[in-house]
Amino acid sequence: MGKERHVVALSGGKDSAALAVYLKHKHPDLDVEYVFTDTGCELPETYEYLDRIRAVLNIDITVIKPEKGWDDYWTLVKVKETPYGIFPYLPSPQQRWCTEVLKLQPYEQWVAKTFTDCIVHSYVGIRADEAADRKGMVTRNPLLETRFPFIEDGLALKDIERLLTDSGLGLPSYYSWRKRSGCYFCFYQSKREWLGLWRHHPDLYYRAMEYETYLPEKGIVFTWCQGISLGELLEKRDDFAILPEEGKNNTEYTVSPDNKLIKTLSHINQGGGGSNSVSVSITTRSDGRKTAEAP
Ligand code: SF4
Repeated sequence: MGKERHVVALSGGKDSAALAVYLKHKHPDLDVEYVFTDTGCELPETYEYLDRIRAVLNIDITVIKPEKGWDDYWTLVKVKETPYGIFPYLPSPQQRWCTEVLKLQPYEQWVAKTFTDCIVHSYVGIRADEAADRKGMVTRNPLLETRFPFIEDGLALKDIERLLTDSGLGLPSYYSWRKRSGCYFCFYQSKREWLGLWRHHPDLYYRAMEYETYLPEKGIVFTWCQGISLGELLEKRDDFAILPEEGKNNTEYTVSPDNKLIKTLSHINQGGGGSNSVSVSITTRSDGRKTAEAP
């Protein structure tokens, strides 16, 4: 068996970005390959954030693209026959084929092609406070060893936020209206997040609308949100307006100067990339969810 290689798959979200910061500091001599699997359906903010990661951490990020894109799968492969004709159907939490074909397969193919006869340590940014909820990337490649440094070291959400603020990276700007990275049409979005997409990227919202088939009278309903089409959601948007009290719990989150992570990461900004004074605005909404916005 050949040598060992180390890969961090960046998602465009905060946890994998914080993992890049953490590994760069904890193992400065480790030769880490940073990759991003581009579904072709990412938010513009994601590409901006990747540029920011490149600049702040002074790293290269290899961009992996699937051989076939979303539209190929949606129109040609993922179709359902009905008495009224053949219709493409959308992925959903129960039929999550999008992750398989747009993320997992391209990543595994890239690993197999790039690292022959190597043990590949694939680092995943699942936090200690969410370990029970998320599995991370499930791989079938026996040479890929998945590692969970945040779980191994007991790092939780507050630690991740501090890693990002201390390094000067901050949070992706979409966190002001959406809580996770991924495709602009991701079905895991809440209705309010969809309306956030409409407010911030109306062109993407209308593009997502075009993928829906909504013929309830024929029993053919392929919508992103359960039970409602994006057109209907737009008509009913006042029902989902942000309530006045949602803006009340804004707190300014500033890194405590004696935090252990600050000490741990004290040298990471050598060469430029921010300071410990970067702050993030955290908003607690009426439903208990937290949103955050980097300056
Ligand atoms: S971000 Fe959402 S829509 Fe995109 S691949 Fe992942 S689960 Fe599918």
